[in-house]
Amino acid sequence: MKQYDFVVIGAGIAGCSVCHYLNKHSNNVLLIDKHNDICSGASGAAGAFLSPLLGKTNNFKDLVTSALSFSINFYKSLEGDLLINCGVNRIPKDEKDKEKFDSYKTFIDFEYEKLNDGFFFKIGSIINPKKVTNKMTLNTKKLLGYDVTKIQKLEDNSWLLNDEIKAKKLILTIGVNVDLIQEPYFKIRPVWGQKMDVETSTSTKINYHKQCSISTVLSQQNGKNIVSIGATHHRFENMQIDNVDEIEKFYTQDIIDDDSKKLLNLAEDIIKLEDTKIVDIKIAARACSTDYLPIVGKLVDSKKTVKEYPHLINGSFITDDKLIYHENLYVLNGVGGRGFVLSAYLANMLVDNIFNGEQIDKEILPNRLFKRWVKKSKLNIH
Ligand SMILES: Cc1cc2nc3c(=O)[nH]c(=O)nc-3n(C[C@H](O)[C@H](O)[C@H](O)COP(=O)(O)OP(=O)(O)OC[C@H]3O[C@@H](n4cnc5c(N)ncnc54)[C@H](O)[C@@H]3O)c2cc1C
Repeated sequence: MKQYDFVVIGAGIAGCSVCHYLNKHSNNVLLIDKHNDICSGASGAAGAFLSPLLGKTNNFKDLVTSALSFSINFYKSLEGDLLINCGVNRIPKDEKDKEKFDSYKTFIDFEYEKLNDGFFFKIGSIINPKKVTNKMTLNTKKLLGYDVTKIQKLEDNSWLLNDEIKAKKLILTIGVNVDLIQEPYFKIRPVWGQKMDVETSTSTKINYHKQCSISTVLSQQNGKNIVSIGATHHRFENMQIDNVDEIEKFYTQDIIDDDSKKLLNLAEDIIKLEDTKIVDIKIAARACSTDYLPIVGKLVDSKKTVKEYPHLINGSFITDDKLIYHENLYVLNGVGGRGFVLSAYLANMLVDNIFNGEQIDKEILPNRLFKRWVKKSKLNIH
């Protein structure tokens, strides 16, 4: 049986970021993905735009602000000029939105100047997801094309995967495929979307964001420029989707065609892109938590916690130190539509917690989800 100090399941930006930081402490890390290559889930579909969040101050905005500064420095630090720091022009979509933009001025966390009725942020950037994740995991052992269907805790508190791989510590960065997490409070809402690359004779010099994003020129092909346009949002809330990997069953060609037209129209409303031809379309699901904040840290064992503290089902409160956890099992999930902004920052926080006992911000711990669930489901637990 193969044994590792750390196994990370899920080779998107979340898992690759975790491996990057784990590798600083351990040379016994294995990264697993069911796809044959890394960065093939949502991470492979992303425009990977990095821009500031506008709006009034709240937990999520503070998190995005800290993570954006961190991630920009992090991507810059990777060798190979992987970050395109071209700036982003955030443009209001209508008069009402313009008023909102004006009211947000006092809450803006980054240097900006006025441009096109909106703001131009120098910090706005874009990266190539594949190149970045490859670079981050250059020295990580990988097991690709391997679907983990079963995880089981052993007596010594290590984890057994598919009855054949042993991990002292297991980290789940599995995006929308959360079947491995058998905890009733752990819910992920997939938000599907499309991003596309187009050939155009127009040369964009910066990123734009209005109702969609348009990138600066990313490369050249057939003597034309390649720019990315993204992204759409679909929840499919009323549809029973048994397997999120069987995309073609619910994400029909009609939806793709409509989304392509929609993205081209929204792009047209920002800047006139001449002689466009769609050259690539990517579709995937963002893993969103129910409160939009990411989920990072050790997983609470709901059965054991409720057994030890049965008064919880009457709505009583306990402090976090009393909660019982699944030993050696961690998650980094729920990075939603901002995985490329949040993941490096959160992975650094998680690895610091594992090795040095540094606190993870309490707003993003899985604990909050357990506590909300136990409060609501008091009539259903026996
Ligand atoms: C169209 C679109 C545009 C986007 N644009 C941006 C953007 O501009 N900026 C930005 O920051 N974010 C953007 N996002 C969001 C970003 O893509 C996600 O937040 C991010 O990719 C999530 O990363 P992840 O690692 O959590 O998930 P994923 O990249 O989905 O990785 C999870 C991996 O886990 C693997 N896995 C799951 N279960 C198992 C199992 N049992 N066994 C083995 N492997 C398993 C899957 O195969 C998958 O590869 C966009 C998303 C979409 C869909």
